[in-house]
Amino acid sequence: MNTVEQELQNLRDELNAFNYSYYVLDQKEISDYDFDLKLKALQELELKHPEFFDPNSPTQRVGGAVTKNFDTIVHEHRMYSLDNSYSKEDLQDWETRVKKMVDGDIQYTCELKYDGASISLTYEGGILVKAVTRGDGFQGDDVTENVKTIKSVPLKLKGDFPPKFDIRGEIVLPFEGFIKMNEERVEIGEEPYRNPRNTASGSLKLQDSAEVAKRPLECLLYNITGSKLNIKSQIESLEKARSWGFKVPDAAKLANSIDEVLEFVNYWDVKRHNLPYETDGVVVKVNNLQHQEELGYTAKAPRWAMAYKFKAEQVSTKLNSITYQVGRTGAITPVANLEPVELAGTTVKRASLHNADQIEKLDIRVGDEVYVEKGGEIIPKILGVDLTKRPINSEPSRYITNCPECETELVRQEGEAQHYCPNYNGCKPQVIGRIQHFISRKAMDIDGLGGETVALLVNEGLISNYSDLYELTKAQVIPLERMAEKSADNLVQGIEQSKNIPFERVLFALGIRFVGETVAKKLAKHYKNIDAIIEASQEDLVTVDEIGIKIAESVSLFFASEANIDTINRLKSFGVQLQMSEAQLEGQTELLKGDIVVVTGVFETVSRNELKKLIEDNGGKVSSSISSKTSYIVAGSNMGPSKKDKAEKLSVLLVSEREFLQKLGFN
Ligand code: AMP
Ligand code: ZN
Repeated sequence: MNTVEQELQNLRDELNAFNYSYYVLDQKEISDYDFDLKLKALQELELKHPEFFDPNSPTQRVGGAVTKNFDTIVHEHRMYSLDNSYSKEDLQDWETRVKKMVDGDIQYTCELKYDGASISLTYEGGILVKAVTRGDGFQGDDVTENVKTIKSVPLKLKGDFPPKFDIRGEIVLPFEGFIKMNEERVEIGEEPYRNPRNTASGSLKLQDSAEVAKRPLECLLYNITGSKLNIKSQIESLEKARSWGFKVPDAAKLANSIDEVLEFVNYWDVKRHNLPYETDGVVVKVNNLQHQEELGYTAKAPRWAMAYKFKAEQVSTKLNSITYQVGRTGAITPVANLEPVELAGTTVKRASLHNADQIEKLDIRVGDEVYVEKGGEIIPKILGVDLTKRPINSEPSRYITNCPECETELVRQEGEAQHYCPNYNGCKPQVIGRIQHFISRKAMDIDGLGGETVALLVNEGLISNYSDLYELTKAQVIPLERMAEKSADNLVQGIEQSKNIPFERVLFALGIRFVGETVAKKLAKHYKNIDAIIEASQEDLVTVDEIGIKIAESVSLFFASEANIDTINRLKSFGVQLQMSEAQLEGQTELLKGDIVVVTGVFETVSRNELKKLIEDNGGKVSSSISSKTSYIVAGSNMGPSKKDKAEKLSVLLVSEREFLQKLGFN
């Protein structure tokens, strides 16, 4: 092996080992910073030496591949479902059936039943070659590109693994990451995801694998399938899988009787609440694989396994009233106010009812006795109504037609589940919510001004939109409740200082629906100042990277409002940054304005990322796929044959690295 190849391999091995410790063993052995440095070094080396390309290099974890349609793959071994049991008797009946079919002592492995999306991974020669969803059990979708971005999935195995096998497991989204994702969604005015399970399975079907890479998914393994595996028991297969580098939770335990199985169940029924991810039961499997073979399968499930479902924690209580909350975007959320009741260790007083359809579907009425469950959802959920206890004089719920805060008639857009209050500028919670968003840490980060003070200022009539903040005087705020001389000073100063916050964050602070931090950055970078954004048509907006029609419509709508334009003009007059600063604009030109450029191949003098930045800094747009809209392709060496074909077919011009740099005045 020559030295470069050796160096590449060393770096890859090293990074793989760090990933393994961190994502599989939960041990941190290197700082994020040092990890990134090494990853960068590897990226650069790989770029220089495409001849040693490895689809399973740790650099491939960041994703980037886009799948428009997922191929259907027939499972070589069917993915069965599991039979369910709910009681000791169910398990004993199962044991009796098992004992009729096999001789000798039976041992059971007990594992947790992870609640996520099932996945089948195929490895050949220790390399991950396919990842397929369960689908209908016979065939599923090829989601390999997306699964490769999940750091706990080994791309390359270690130890003594069989030449070819499938391994099955569950892709889960741990609570912590789920909550964080939801916070970010709420921030841009999107509905939060309902539960981790659906979000995990939805993630597998995202088209852009780079999006999947951002989600903190994990893959937990529990079953190896294949022939000539030389494994004798389920517990051994778990140990082996672990030794090859898979994440196999260590809760699994061998039990010698159904009583021991029940001990395991009872233990985890309580302890599962400390796990970082969701579980909904225990899976009991006959341990001996020879026995498993003798037992075989029914039409839908193995006879050698049984799921034992934890009792969902459920109680019933009275629905006292339904109230309606108005969010910062005007979205209405119905809330069930309940007679307080203990559930899974907390007192529950409220539950979300989501929307009008939900209320109608459950036919839920004030005065009803309702069943409440704390499942995967963070907020407890109402499952249904105990109709036997419905009061005789009960009346069907009628969803509100007008805003509970401002009386304006609500609207519900075609295809949307949520009702909205359209009184954008006059509805208190919307006005207050928008200003609270404006001052928040990631937006204008106004020190000395908190959410409650904002509400106070609005209620006192001192401000009615965020531009009014800049006219507030100390004399005006001192009379406010709990406002001392010092805090008044801080408040006014904090507002003054926010005039230095850069344009991209101001753009985020404006609170345009669907414009989160990233989108704001993209827009700021592309248009450079607010006037250019105001003037941009929807057709123009969608040409910006990551801006789709939904965002474009929302941006247009925002700037079509005269009141919003007024506010912007006021912000401008107070000196808030509504354009990129000189420093930010340095090195930026309009030389490539209107150009839609595809970058492909390997480059000599600049890295691919530098090239992309150059295109954007000079007013061009980087696109990932060749189409009739492509202005030209900057082609390095080793351009793929399919791209070449496509370029030829569409007669798109190829430009060399040198020619491109010359265009920008480099020599
Ligand atoms: P069900 O979807 O209720 O029929 O349950 C079967 C599913 O449970 C399987 O398809 C797996 O995705 C999932 N599962 C979760 N944990 C385990 C486990 N430890 N062993 C087997 N299956 C499991
Ligand atoms: Zn309203």
